[in-house]
Amino acid sequence: QTEHVLMDEIAVRRALTRIAHEILEKNKGFENCLLIGIRTRGIHLARRVSERIREIEGIPAPVGEVDVTRYRDDRIVSLETAVTGGEESAAADGQEKLVVQGRKLILFDDVLFTGRTVRAAMDALMDLGRPQMIQLAVLVDRGHRELPIRPDFVGKNIPTSKQESIEVKLSEVDGVDQVIITGQ
Ligand code: 5GP
Ligand code: MG
Repeated sequence: QTEHVLMDEIAVRRALTRIAHEILEKNKGFENCLLIGIRTRGIHLARRVSERIREIEGIPAPVGEVDVTRYRDDRIVSLETAVTGGEESAAADGQEKLVVQGRKLILFDDVLFTGRTVRAAMDALMDLGRPQMIQLAVLVDRGHRELPIRPDFVGKNIPTSKQESIEVKLSEVDGVDQVIITGQ
């Protein structure tokens, strides 16, 4: 098995800083936007970008979470959303509708592959209300899409074979920031 480090801590930091700027540029600021992290690592990425946006714009950038762990395709089991930062920090159970309704949602995940996880996340969020728009940010796009989904913001495009896999390590979970490709 071969292993190559494709992004180190500095590369991850620069990619997320760039994505924060791109989000602000595309949306002409952060008004009416909400960052939504998909399960573990997407949530940490969303929180980091939120922190960058706060530094750049001087305003809090609220972050929500969506858990689609067991949600692929027709097996929709549970959706959890929680929003922290800004005025939404007090959003209680059952209030998620108000949070999603009419807002621009920016979904975050670590790796984009077939697109099925993002589709499930969009389905779950749209069950809560009608967002004005949904955008997608990923740290790594490894290709092999099976649905018509494309990211708006990409840390790094990494063309892979189906046999290869990408390991994303983030300091909050793994103690280190690193993107590694492993192959047979
Ligand atoms: P998809 O649903 O697009 O097929 O896969 C994306 C989801 O599966 C993401 O939540 C991502 O975390 C995970 N995933 C898919 N392929 C990989 C990969 O090569 N490496 C890692 N770390 N996660 C992957
Ligand atoms: Mg994931």
